Amino acid sequence: MINRRRKKDLFKRNIMKFETKAIHIGEEPKFKEGGSGDVVIPIHLSSTFARKKVDEPTYGYEYSRTGNPTRNALERRLAALEDAKFGLAFASGVAAETVLCLSLLKSGDHIIASGDLYSGTRRLFNTVFNQNFEVEISYVDAREVKNVKKAIKSNTRLVWLETPTNPLMRLCDIKAISEITEGKDIIVVVDNTFMSPYFQKPLNLGADIVVHSTTKFLNGHSDSIGGAIMLSDDKTYSALKFYQNTTGAILSPFDSFLVLRGIKTLAIRMEKHNKNAIRIAEYLESHPKVKRVNYPGLKSYPQHNLARKQMSGFGGMLSFEIDANLKETRAFLENLKIFALAESLGGVESLIEHPAIMTHSYIPKKEREKMGITDSLIRISVGIEDITDLIEDLDNAFKRTTQK
Ligand SMILES: *Cc1c(COP(=O)(O)O)cnc(C)c1O
Repeated sequence: MINRRRKKDLFKRNIMKFETKAIHIGEEPKFKEGGSGDVVIPIHLSSTFARKKVDEPTYGYEYSRTGNPTRNALERRLAALEDAKFGLAFASGVAAETVLCLSLLKSGDHIIASGDLYSGTRRLFNTVFNQNFEVEISYVDAREVKNVKKAIKSNTRLVWLETPTNPLMRLCDIKAISEITEGKDIIVVVDNTFMSPYFQKPLNLGADIVVHSTTKFLNGHSDSIGGAIMLSDDKTYSALKFYQNTTGAILSPFDSFLVLRGIKTLAIRMEKHNKNAIRIAEYLESHPKVKRVNYPGLKSYPQHNLARKQMSGFGGMLSFEIDANLKETRAFLENLKIFALAESLGGVESLIEHPAIMTHSYIPKKEREKMGITDSLIRISVGIEDITDLIEDLDNAFKRTTQK
């Protein structure tokens, strides 16, 4: 738990609304001598910056790994979106996570993490941090706050949450879990990639740090790999900033530009992802070939009330189980025309995938099935296409599959 009072002071000064911040923060036109009044910040490719005096960088920049104007513009915007004081941009989501763990952990420390964590995060914890650096990891079913509480030990330093999880869309109560770390030297991290700050703001619910894969909804166009960290504590920020520069895991100026541009439409994209996902979830729920739909926006969803409490929308991700064997499930996926059969998520285009064979194949079959990732589970990242086209595509795939 880190300095929360500062965060509150910052909110008072936060006068712009989300959509306005998403468009303007970081790209305020600067009118200075020799400037050009750009409305869109240039892509600053310069690796180094000249200074007038030996002992002082004239405009605050010295070398682009340490600080770059385009990346800094993005970092300011990222902070504003999560109501945070600081933002940091990295070469990928897992690069952000690596820097976070390197900065804040040492051998012998303990992490508590949500059970069905993003596969890349789990691999990073299990190989690099557990095997090489002897960091202990406990995976818990974070749907129950008491499971997290029970796992806390004297060496626990991080509680790492993902809500909703991937691909089962399980939620955990960010506020309640943050409260049980109160007064302890434990940092609560939330991977907010699935909801984006538009629908969920973990820092306002009591978490200390937010991480993102900007590759997903923040950039939103499936054309850049990147990661981000947002937080408000000065001391932790200094440590992260030091490790960002020291490890060099930075986002490039061109990718920073892409993410700055993507974020401008985040609000309207998220609204449409959400609207389309609700329609698809309802369609699937009423389909005779579908056994179960995992979407927090459905009234039938076991954690629907928690979703309403801590999220302002339900997002564009869902998964569902069809009443079919593996062969038919494959056929269904291969029969789609608009949905691309692909990993990743959060872009404007609809993607569909088979977790057991694709994103979650690293989990042994037995363990996977126990979790609910069966051979007939399918995950969708609902895009922002016309909803009738999307439903027709699913409908045709169901028909073609059952005819065979
Ligand atoms: C994609 C993803 C990551 C990793 O991000 P990369 O940009 O692929 O490195 C982390 N967490 C979640 C929830 C993700 O979806």
